[in-house]
Amino acid sequence: MFKEPIYITRPLLPNLNDILSSLTDVWNNQWLTNNGPQHSKLEDQLKQYLNVENLSLFNNGTSALLLGIKALNLTGEVITTPFTFPATVQALDWNNLTPVFCDIDPTTLTLDAAKIESLITEKTSAILGVHTFGNPCDVKRIQTIANKYNLKVIYDGAHTFGTNIEQHPIGNFGDMTMFSFHATKLFNTVEGGALTYKDESLVEKLNLLKNFGIANPEEVILSGLNAKLNEIQSIIGLEVLKLVELERQKRHEIKKVYEQYLADIPGIRVLTKNEGDQSSYQYFVIQIDKEIYGKTRDWLHEKLKEFNVFTRKYFFPLCSEFKWYENLKSARKENLPQAHKVVTEVLAMPYYGELQMESVIKICKVIRESR
Ligand SMILES: *Cc1c(COP(=O)(O)O)cnc(C)c1O
Repeated sequence: MFKEPIYITRPLLPNLNDILSSLTDVWNNQWLTNNGPQHSKLEDQLKQYLNVENLSLFNNGTSALLLGIKALNLTGEVITTPFTFPATVQALDWNNLTPVFCDIDPTTLTLDAAKIESLITEKTSAILGVHTFGNPCDVKRIQTIANKYNLKVIYDGAHTFGTNIEQHPIGNFGDMTMFSFHATKLFNTVEGGALTYKDESLVEKLNLLKNFGIANPEEVILSGLNAKLNEIQSIIGLEVLKLVELERQKRHEIKKVYEQYLADIPGIRVLTKNEGDQSSYQYFVIQIDKEIYGKTRDWLHEKLKEFNVFTRKYFFPLCSEFKWYENLKSARKENLPQAHKVVTEVLAMPYYGELQMESVIKICKVIRESR
């Protein structure tokens, strides 16, 4: 039993004194939001860090995705995964688009590319994939399908800050990728997000969309939203960005200890290995095979609570189970067998740089011995 509760994550926070001088700059020039100097600086640094040409900042990942989809003028249906955070599909809802749920690959837990083509109709305008837990989608195969049917490709990359697919920066795949900078994400601006995109001409449209469609003091030319990242958040981002590499290294060591101590427990599989690709170090997720392990995921989730360890059933429930999709054919359980199996088996473990190695070893011991 741990004295202090252990949660799944801890936000990466800069030293308070380090942000004071930047905050003083903001206080002095009294520019708090609307494309200020800190915002521009963060945009430039993130372009470099993520190795992308085009990047726009937003007040959170969800509004980034929502407005990115709007900027691409999608219509009708969008093929996506049921195994994701609600924001992915809600960004479609808010654009009056119908999600078409496609089952997932049982190994990567991302869209099963082999099942996409059979879901395409004359109404399909895009494929929206999620790089689940940092496991990249099958980007090559998805792009081939998209080219064949003239579809747009969008990725929810909320779990993949700064990763590559075979040396290629992940933000360069598809037409657009969304990143989330929520407090629980590896890199955070408290709340925040970004889009990276192929078509550089989108920058003006995205700037309009995140600022009420105001083109100049006399003209409002489209219906937008207020989705701007402010100067204070930008400062936090600039400081947190300096800490990300060290945090990755710490998480790498923690991951190794987890993998070592979980390796020979029957029925436990580590899902976030990312062989060949660089890990995103966002989550450490295991899958519990109840037949072999002898207990269910839900049992282990409750058992760990008794030891003061709070894991998360990411992503539970499936988005296809939301009440407002109950009449949607693609949301039916029989069409999504892998997603329905996986959603009862995965568990995100405590994972952050400050997590003590002894704690990791103790958690693994509970998993091994308490069943
Ligand atoms: C965190 C997350 C989001 C939402 O991002 P916000 O910045 O919190 O709006 C979207 N999709 C996935 C997969 C996420 O994990």
